[in-house]
Amino acid sequence: MRNELIKIGVIGVGHLGQHHTKHYAALSDASLMGIYDIDTDRAESIARKNNTKAFSSIESLLETVDAVSIVTPTPFHADVAELCIMAKKHVFIEKPITKSLEEADRLLLLAKEKGVLIQVGHIERLNPALLALQPYNVQPKFIEIQRLAPYTARGTDVPVVLDLMIHDIDILLSLVNSPVKTIRASGLSILTDSVDIAHARIRFGNGTVASIMSSRVAKDKVRKIKVFQRDLYATIDLLLGLTEVYKVIGNPDDDPDALITAPFEYDGSERFIAYEKPPVVPEDALQMELMNFIKSIRGQETPIVTGKAGRDALEVAMEIQQLIIQDIH
Ligand code: NAD
Repeated sequence: MRNELIKIGVIGVGHLGQHHTKHYAALSDASLMGIYDIDTDRAESIARKNNTKAFSSIESLLETVDAVSIVTPTPFHADVAELCIMAKKHVFIEKPITKSLEEADRLLLLAKEKGVLIQVGHIERLNPALLALQPYNVQPKFIEIQRLAPYTARGTDVPVVLDLMIHDIDILLSLVNSPVKTIRASGLSILTDSVDIAHARIRFGNGTVASIMSSRVAKDKVRKIKVFQRDLYATIDLLLGLTEVYKVIGNPDDDPDALITAPFEYDGSERFIAYEKPPVVPEDALQMELMNFIKSIRGQETPIVTGKAGRDALEVAMEIQQLIIQDIH
């Protein structure tokens, strides 16, 4: 499909699906053929705004497209995606890929059989503040991640681990190149009957340890990552778009990019801490993600978050959720 205009549709045009629709309408490599939502009034209104068509069924939309974004509530991802993949359409599925590992595995297998692409909307992977860390090629030994959000009804159809924490699990798995070895977890229900606050401690095969905490019972939003490794400490504020790196160097001249260098003494010799603020290039992460999907279908790029990566993040999330349930009872 190289150089072909990809005919695209969106299924589910609620809070996030409207933005998928808007971006596809503006992408030069894609042609937005239409949208579908079970809420027909909503579908008509979003279609009007984006100069596209509201289809009356998923099947009729699928007859006109090469690929779709699936932006329905998570419990419907598997059934909708199965319908699309059976019709040999490439699918971009919002995160989490599905609500169960069995469903994710079934979709991956089906996509392989039908020769179509599954991409998953773990958008934080494209957060400019996280991308700013790339040149440092980090190999973390300890990672701390915190994600807090005020309560909203949207997303409460799944526990906080599948709604919020899964973003950080995906980031974690992309930063640590080693299999998960052990997980300990605890959590609480505060506002819903499901888990609203979760904490997990994950140890990887290479010895790296991560502590991740997510809550949807917060006054203000927080999304912070701290990365520690020998001679380096980095903080990433995904919300403010701020990345700061502290590195140990032998001599101030060793790091011309450092904004400040502060001396310290260890084991009888003087060393320096260099402080750097790598440039965070403001980009629209959703636009980049959808462009990557279209270019991946055209064979010009590879998916940043594959179906397998979405499935692997879900596997860890499900294990954390199960451990929390065991811990509560
Ligand atoms: P939403 O409730 O605002 O919108 C969902 C839309 O889907 C609604 O318009 C609803 O009418 C429609 N719908 C429901 N069932 C359908 C079906 N079977 N077929 C077609 N349409 C259907 O939800 P939202 O906040 O937009 O979330 C949608 C998905 O996006 C969820 O999976 C959520 O986890 C994910 N999400 C991801 C991020 C992110 O950061 N990547 C952020 C928000 C939401």
